[in-house]
Amino acid sequence: MYNPEEMGFSTNQIHAARPEPVGPAPLQSPIYQTSTYIFESTQQGAARFALEEPGYIYTRLHNPNADEVAARIATLEGGEAGMLTGSGMGAILSVFWNYLKAGDHILSDSTLYGCTYAFLTTGVTRFGVEVTFVDFNDLEAVRKAVRPNTRFAYCETATNPDLKVIDIAAMSKTVKAANPDTLVMVDNTFTSSYLVQPIKLGADIVVHSVTKYLNGHGDVIAGAIISTAERIKDITYCGLKYMTGACIGPFDSFLIGRGLKTLDIRMDRHSDNAMKVARFLEGHPAVRRVCYPGLESHPQHELAAREFRPGRFGGIMSFELKCDRERTSEFANGLKLCTLAVSLGDAITLIEHPASMTHNTYTIEELAELGISESLLRLSVGLEDPDDIIADLKRELDKIEVEA
Ligand SMILES: *Cc1c(COP(=O)(O)O)cnc(C)c1O
Repeated sequence: MYNPEEMGFSTNQIHAARPEPVGPAPLQSPIYQTSTYIFESTQQGAARFALEEPGYIYTRLHNPNADEVAARIATLEGGEAGMLTGSGMGAILSVFWNYLKAGDHILSDSTLYGCTYAFLTTGVTRFGVEVTFVDFNDLEAVRKAVRPNTRFAYCETATNPDLKVIDIAAMSKTVKAANPDTLVMVDNTFTSSYLVQPIKLGADIVVHSVTKYLNGHGDVIAGAIISTAERIKDITYCGLKYMTGACIGPFDSFLIGRGLKTLDIRMDRHSDNAMKVARFLEGHPAVRRVCYPGLESHPQHELAAREFRPGRFGGIMSFELKCDRERTSEFANGLKLCTLAVSLGDAITLIEHPASMTHNTYTIEELAELGISESLLRLSVGLEDPDDIIADLKRELDKIEVEA
């Protein structure tokens, strides 16, 4: 029994009234807000470091809150194991740095999240890794581009911001036939574990920006990696441990666990709302085109209908206005309910201008090549009443003067 009478002030300010661990069996997991864990003996510490005995060592590696949520996400993805990271970029880079070495080659789809694109074009290339980009829906181009040293084939389930949908099953099969050692890695952020499960379609590793739909409430930056138990162990004890250090905190893990409980009903509502908004935009005279996989006009509509959860196409779309960059800005600035911010997958409808924000790492010429014009806007449809979202868009769209 700790007796504060026998101890000095300094000791007491740390140890006095420190509760014995007890088991009140709370319904929700308590937050293990701790950086490190007590070993019973040096022998136990040694056994844990040698990975001979399961148990906690240090929160950069494992924490009960993170482990619980990671295991839950892995289950939803149909993967054997999962891990959380401090950001989506932390997840992507923990995987890449875990496996890459000089002389390797990465094959990537041509449309990517801006920071991933920057890493592949100007980051990893400084370390003797070659990267080539092809359209992952062009299977012949994919087959030709796979080399004996291709370590990764990388893509996103639905691309940013043009919502190109990748046939993951066909692409994975093509890559594996050309080189069975190439790891197929898919960023499933846009569709979430609810709409698409890439591992079931042949992917080896799935990554997420948990910041978006999985957490869903716009209050955490986080990432996730899902793969086999063996790979997750490797990535934890190398990629995360000493290559990126991109670990997640206990409280953020707790919040993600909370958000995750409503993923399905949120995704259903995001999808239903987005379908209505997309139909409205498609019919408005000031809108040149709408990219949304739920629309029949989308080039991969049939693929999405097959690959995604039936009847659901997610909450993200992009649309191009019949006006110049300046007028496009004015339109976006005038919106009230649709909030001008990057990120996506929030309960709040968010709108952003890719050319000046998320895709500013691409040159205007590169953007044009990818069909991303300066009057393109990306909309992440939230969970508000769809009629209110549409009314907000309509009010500002009606102000745009369109030549007859
Ligand atoms: C946001 C995002 C990322 C990066 O995730 P962070 O959590 O912001 O680090 C990666 N990929 C996609 C598709 C994203 O939308």
